[in-house]
Amino acid sequence: MSVESFEVTKQQAKKEKDNPLTDFQETLKDAITVMNLPQQVYEFLKKPMRFLEVSIPIRMDNGKTEIFQGFRAQHNDASGPTKGGIRFHPDVTPEEVKALAGWMSLKCGITDLPYGGAKGGIICDPRKMSFDELERLSRGYVRAVSQLVGPTKDIPAPDMYTNSQIMAWMLDEYDQIREFDNPGFITGKPIALGGSKGRETATSKGVLYTLQMVCQLKKKPLKDMRVIIQGFGNVGSYLASYLYDLGVKVIGVADELGGLYDEKGLDIPYLIDNRDSFGIVSNLFHHSISNLELLEKECDVLIPAAISGVINKQNANRINCKFVVEAANGPTTKEALKILDEREILVVPDILANSGGVIVSYFEWCQNNQGYYWTEETVDERLKEKITASFINVYKTSQKYRVNMKLAAYIEGIQKLAEASRLRGWLKY
Ligand code: GLU
Repeated sequence: MSVESFEVTKQQAKKEKDNPLTDFQETLKDAITVMNLPQQVYEFLKKPMRFLEVSIPIRMDNGKTEIFQGFRAQHNDASGPTKGGIRFHPDVTPEEVKALAGWMSLKCGITDLPYGGAKGGIICDPRKMSFDELERLSRGYVRAVSQLVGPTKDIPAPDMYTNSQIMAWMLDEYDQIREFDNPGFITGKPIALGGSKGRETATSKGVLYTLQMVCQLKKKPLKDMRVIIQGFGNVGSYLASYLYDLGVKVIGVADELGGLYDEKGLDIPYLIDNRDSFGIVSNLFHHSISNLELLEKECDVLIPAAISGVINKQNANRINCKFVVEAANGPTTKEALKILDEREILVVPDILANSGGVIVSYFEWCQNNQGYYWTEETVDERLKEKITASFINVYKTSQKYRVNMKLAAYIEGIQKLAEASRLRGWLKY
């Protein structure tokens, strides 16, 4: 039952976000209209400046060759090299990658990083591939896009279903092609290869800091919040354990197969110790519920930390929380956001709430460029400072223009992108 209903959520998400690029473009247009910028700004920013589609032939363990499709979108490089993760997922589409690259540009603008946005993807199911096949695919991707990427050109990082080991293979392949050491080519690397302390936990820490800002703003103590987290992967599980350690009740978590709910608060350390290698925990209870049910349970804070489009027009009216903090990319559809706005549920947008990952990626790149490595405390302090300042700016912008935080975040991001593009002479206004 739970697997099926997750499928229903995914199907609805797919239906509404058939083309996530449309979602990105429509919100971009709304923001540009509010900002009173000329139409040419929209025409320029609505699509990536470059998009590469590649075929990657890979020898599989059974001796046969399979051709994988890969993509890399570079949205805008006016503010600096482009930056963004690479996802390995069976449902990756060119439109999704283009939208995600645009969101990365906005993320870097909001957090004032000297980058534009990019995103990559390969259509594959890493859970059905061996370690060796994954290594060959990671290396094959780098060979296919090597002309387009580089430490001062376009810097990849992990995303959905990619991790530090995959970054290590990609780095090694790039170094072999270039014939010298390039630690700043990719971020999210293992620490032994020049990765940054605190990168693995950065996205979840960033979500925590934004949640702390929401509590400060609404004058509600964090420890009184009852939280539901949908997704128990890298972001969801670290976040759950930070909240648990702070004495916050995490009353629900969900993985891909179902959800766990206990209004007295879940025993997060137990779930972390007993999850399987794919992060599945919903089989640990006799009475697990479905993903859909969990999303609609009453709570103070709902944190979607898995796939896009899970809050959509089908369930937005039944979402039963005070705040939504978007840890995943694009978890709330445009139509759903309108409903949540009408119901006065505050939504902290993805491009702000999950920017901790790219912020610490930037710190990693700075450390690689300096050849000088920071302590975890320094990384943490600077992350908190940057994301808190970004939250305040987005909030002030939302007050100034009387718009929701999503639109305010777009406005903040567009401001920097448009100015850099105008100064370079790419836009005339
Ligand atoms: N993939 C992450 C994101 O969507 C991190 C990107 C990066 O570190 O460059 O923000």
